[in-house]
Amino acid sequence: MEQRTLDHAALADKFNRDEPRVDWHDKTLWFIREKRDKAVWQITEWEDLRETASQIKNNVLDNLHDYLLEFEKQAQQNGVTVHWAANAEEHNRIVHSIIQQHGVTDIVKSKSMLTEECHLNEYLHEKGITVVDTDLGERIVQLAGEPPSHIVLPCIHWKKEEIGELFHQHLGTPKGNADPQFLTAAAREHLRQRFLTSRVAITGVNFAVAETGEIVVCTNEGNADLGVQLADVHIACMGIEKIIPQRKHLGIFLRLLARSATGQPTTTYSSHFRKPRPGQTMHIVLVDNGRSERLQQESFRNALKCIRCGACMNTCPVYRRSGGHSYQYAIAGPIGSILAPSLDMKNHADLPFASTLCGSCSNVCPVKINIHEQLYQWRQVLVKEGYVSPVKKAGIAGMAAVLSKPGIYKASGAIGRWFMKYIPVLVNNRLNPWYKQREMPAVPKQSFNEWYHQNRKQHGKQG
Ligand code: SF4
Repeated sequence: MEQRTLDHAALADKFNRDEPRVDWHDKTLWFIREKRDKAVWQITEWEDLRETASQIKNNVLDNLHDYLLEFEKQAQQNGVTVHWAANAEEHNRIVHSIIQQHGVTDIVKSKSMLTEECHLNEYLHEKGITVVDTDLGERIVQLAGEPPSHIVLPCIHWKKEEIGELFHQHLGTPKGNADPQFLTAAAREHLRQRFLTSRVAITGVNFAVAETGEIVVCTNEGNADLGVQLADVHIACMGIEKIIPQRKHLGIFLRLLARSATGQPTTTYSSHFRKPRPGQTMHIVLVDNGRSERLQQESFRNALKCIRCGACMNTCPVYRRSGGHSYQYAIAGPIGSILAPSLDMKNHADLPFASTLCGSCSNVCPVKINIHEQLYQWRQVLVKEGYVSPVKKAGIAGMAAVLSKPGIYKASGAIGRWFMKYIPVLVNNRLNPWYKQREMPAVPKQSFNEWYHQNRKQHGKQG
């Protein structure tokens, strides 16, 4: 597990120094949220779909053991080799040993957040194996030496001019050319060579059907299909929660996924891989990496229902204005903030506090995960376990003392109003981060409580 030196707030502060980028990042993600809304409103049964998907996933979580064994049996009957990995390290070792058995040093990989979670690229790089990410956005961040900042839109924080410069440096495109169509064509040509020569292709898994032993991979670029069809070996890496019971359930999840992710009615390619083609070998690596532990945490197990659509990120006001890298976890945003602490509470204790608890994430989640409630519950766990800073702890204790005693609350309000009126510099100064971005409101003459009592009296007299 990587050691972190800065917390979310400090990294968000860094991201916020480039104001035009923050505004543009915010607007772009909000545009996708609006696209999602339009796509959703076209389906009258949307809420039924969400409810059904949520119940199917509940059933999967209740019977995960049985569905996994059913999936393994079916996949083996299809001629697929199934591996089980307890954690990230085991996953990486298994993938490496398969690659080694084929004496290969260059491989292609389509988007897989699980391999990001396991830091597979770094692991294979140390073993002398070159991994080329074939999703365009992932390739861009890979060339830039960065992790993805969003689970569906990995390079959403990059501007086209910056990508033009990056391609100029790495792919030799003409300097100053930032035309998206031209850059995409250049990337296609560059990747085509890798597809043609790679004998091993790694893919992620969006859904694994227990009934048939098949996996489904959703992409908009067809890169997973191309990689797998041209390779001798297909390795599919999946978290154990990706299981769905039957093929007929796919219709529900595919409709929800594409609309929630990008506002499309369906993903361009929803590719089914059931068995290796003649002469090819196919492996599926089923990874736990903390998932069984999460399954036992009554308050947090729901997070395992996630289908990685990214809708909660696009709608989150904190994510949109702090950028994905400020979360320092493979999965950023609201869902990452509830997944990360269950993997490493100490290292990710800052994330459940990176939220306004507005509940917008839970409102858009296609599988009805109670994200904002879990964020709030994580805060309670973290405070209880002593994983918050002494300053935050003292602040919370102070607020609890004030809010639990009406007398102290009223007196604090009156004192606050007095200071704001006569010595405003005590509050409105550079040390107050809130003030940096905002005009402080005019101080009210009286508290709501005073106003209410006064008006009720007057009203009572009139009555
Ligand atoms: S938590 Fe829900 S909204 Fe967020 S990525 Fe997962 S499925 Fe999508």
